[in-house]
Amino acid sequence: MQVTGEPSFRESVDLMFNRAAKLMDMSPGLEQKIRVCNSTYTVRFGVRLRGKIETFTGYRSVHSEHMEPVKGGIRFALSVNQDEVEALAALMTYKCALVETPFGGSKGGLCIDPRAWDEHELEQITRRFAYELIKRDLIHPAQNVPAPDMGTGEREMAWIADQYARMNTTDINAKACVTGKPPHAGGIQGRVEATGRGVQYALREFFRHREDVSKARLLGGLDGKRVIVQGLGNVGYHAAKFLSEEDGCKIIAVIERDGALLDERGLNVEDVRQWMNGHEGLMAGYPDAKYVADGVAILEEPCDILIPAALEGVIHKDNAAQIKAPLIVEAANGPITFGADEILRQKGCVIIPDMYANAGGVTVSYFEWVKNLSHIRFGRMQRRAEEARSRLIVEELERLSADQNLGWTLAEGFKDKFLQGSDELALVRSGLDDTMRTAYQAMREVWHGREGVEDLRVAAYIVSIGRVAQTYRSKGL
Ligand code: GLU
Repeated sequence: MQVTGEPSFRESVDLMFNRAAKLMDMSPGLEQKIRVCNSTYTVRFGVRLRGKIETFTGYRSVHSEHMEPVKGGIRFALSVNQDEVEALAALMTYKCALVETPFGGSKGGLCIDPRAWDEHELEQITRRFAYELIKRDLIHPAQNVPAPDMGTGEREMAWIADQYARMNTTDINAKACVTGKPPHAGGIQGRVEATGRGVQYALREFFRHREDVSKARLLGGLDGKRVIVQGLGNVGYHAAKFLSEEDGCKIIAVIERDGALLDERGLNVEDVRQWMNGHEGLMAGYPDAKYVADGVAILEEPCDILIPAALEGVIHKDNAAQIKAPLIVEAANGPITFGADEILRQKGCVIIPDMYANAGGVTVSYFEWVKNLSHIRFGRMQRRAEEARSRLIVEELERLSADQNLGWTLAEGFKDKFLQGSDELALVRSGLDDTMRTAYQAMREVWHGREGVEDLRVAAYIVSIGRVAQTYRSKGL
């Protein structure tokens, strides 16, 4: 989305990059090499649908190949354009570096309104787009690995994986050509909710650091915090659900394209989502909350945490000054423009930046890719061995207690929990949690420890750019 009077999305990302690069010791040549997008492939292809040929335009942009494969989602939306795809590819480079997934950055997009086509038609279109990209190695387990993004999900990824397998019948690693597949088609448990889960883990980590919480003029933990979520798609829905069900947050408003729902006591996120599923994705008419048609205005309502989880550019220089949230978590990519970022910073608002806050998706994609290449489910070898060891300890404790007449009894539920070996989902969550904690700590070290670093976004860029630069240097570039 281009906001009038402001730099484009890609320019916005470049400007944010420049703020960080200024504080780093890099040669101008290397700086330029990292900033620019390596290549963008545009394809226009025709599909015969409803008796006539429809032409579609798609892109796959590769921002940085300092590590391969390059990684990043494929978006289906009418608003897709080259500038956007390039901005998103650049963010993928920095995101992957920040959370230490061994990938370069890429992104794809298809100009399409997915709602305008039925499932069979979408399959034809997706397969044809995938065919064009596969032919040019722009989908390939070792070179370029897409994933879901706005407007795409497990279903589209399964079609892409199958298309690749049909065109590469002897490639034993074919399944690793794309991530975000359904579990029964080579996917991994926990990928669908990974980005939302990552937002939750990011917030939990933020609230572990009292000094950072007070910078946002907040107190205490997540419990009872008043949260506004913009966008109840895959990311916003899962983030809101987990934060309200597991961390005691109150979701006081959710904003969608047709308006907003408000409830000071906290909305039942699952209920709202069910309602939307049954009403063509619309919120209007939901019986258990106040409905406001001007959803965008709700971004400006007072709350503790604002989570933009939809499109880029929703907080811009014309509404930034009115935003009251002291803490914003960028669950979407690029929801705050460069101009808005400046205004918010001056107001003392703390922003947990996109490249960190929404990195849960690509993190679990990484686990899925590794699973596909290793051809074995995580936990398959060790789960029962783990259980056997735990059982030994429990039985020994019980024996000691009985032999010595100690009268020990294990707390209720402890035994069951302790005896359960880690399955794939538990391991994915553990890996994601560890990743989000480690990445936050790397950012905050720079935030608090480096001269001239005012905010987490610059800190995130410094960590990422530093890692990319190091890879280029060690390659002899
Ligand atoms: N589309 C997601 C993102 O923007 C996921 C990318 C991936 O899993 O490769 O991070």
